[in-house]
Amino acid sequence: MSKAKNAFEIFGFLDKSNCGKCGEKTCLAFAGAVFLGKRKIHGCPNLNRQALDWFSDEPGQSIPPDQNPVDQLEELKSKIVHLDLAQAAERVGGGFSGNKLTLKVLGKDFSVDASGNLTTEIHINPWVAVPFLSYILYGQGLFVSGKWVPFRELREGRDRYPLFQKRCEEQMKKVADVYTQLFDDIVHLFGGKQVDKQFESDISVVLHPLPKVPVMICYWLPEDGLGSSLHIFFDETADRNLDIGSVFSLGAGLAQMFTKIALRHGFDART
Ligand code: SF4
Repeated sequence: MSKAKNAFEIFGFLDKSNCGKCGEKTCLAFAGAVFLGKRKIHGCPNLNRQALDWFSDEPGQSIPPDQNPVDQLEELKSKIVHLDLAQAAERVGGGFSGNKLTLKVLGKDFSVDASGNLTTEIHINPWVAVPFLSYILYGQGLFVSGKWVPFRELREGRDRYPLFQKRCEEQMKKVADVYTQLFDDIVHLFGGKQVDKQFESDISVVLHPLPKVPVMICYWLPEDGLGSSLHIFFDETADRNLDIGSVFSLGAGLAQMFTKIALRHGFDART
């Protein structure tokens, strides 16, 4: 329960635009859910400084500071030394040989040895290395169900969705709008696969940043005066095969990588 005396006190901090980005129909509905402890205040992406300050001393309401990805990587590496890599390889859909566990990450080999050293055919970026280790250490290794769901339907995804939408979906859409070759690149450079059109999209592509965490990107071309749109879907098991922070990191990392590729070809999607 909130320290606010009632839902109206929380409502007073909201911008009252009823924009719906939090997933509720109105700001008042969102305020009510926060008051009852069903939602976190940072589920609203439009908070001003005053609101953030007011909620910062409430347990569970402040936005957890992002751990530095480099520190996070070192912490995960230190935990790998206690893991049986051969057993873990079976669980997560990888291979084990030469004392190394190897997974296919975006179609390329990515390995870790018993001392936590990483070797890979691609550049070691924290956005992929942290989810890679987290998947091996904590992933349940559930088989992919084939049921696609948006990020907000994953466990703990709802409150992070506004940020996911901004950093991942909106950014990828900007790239797809200006760089029409994007989906060919996803297929050819990252082992992606064009699949039957899903959710009536014009293009649907599936790629595997981790073996049991497929990602589907669906793109709708502009039509009848409506702008284009792009949405990202995950298998419904994604939140048990990987922690939600790492799922977010994969989406944001892919969006950044696509932006850089487009820029290399002379298409600037950063604005
Ligand atoms: S996202 Fe914030 S401003 Fe928009 S409807 Fe929800 S509470 Fe209101």
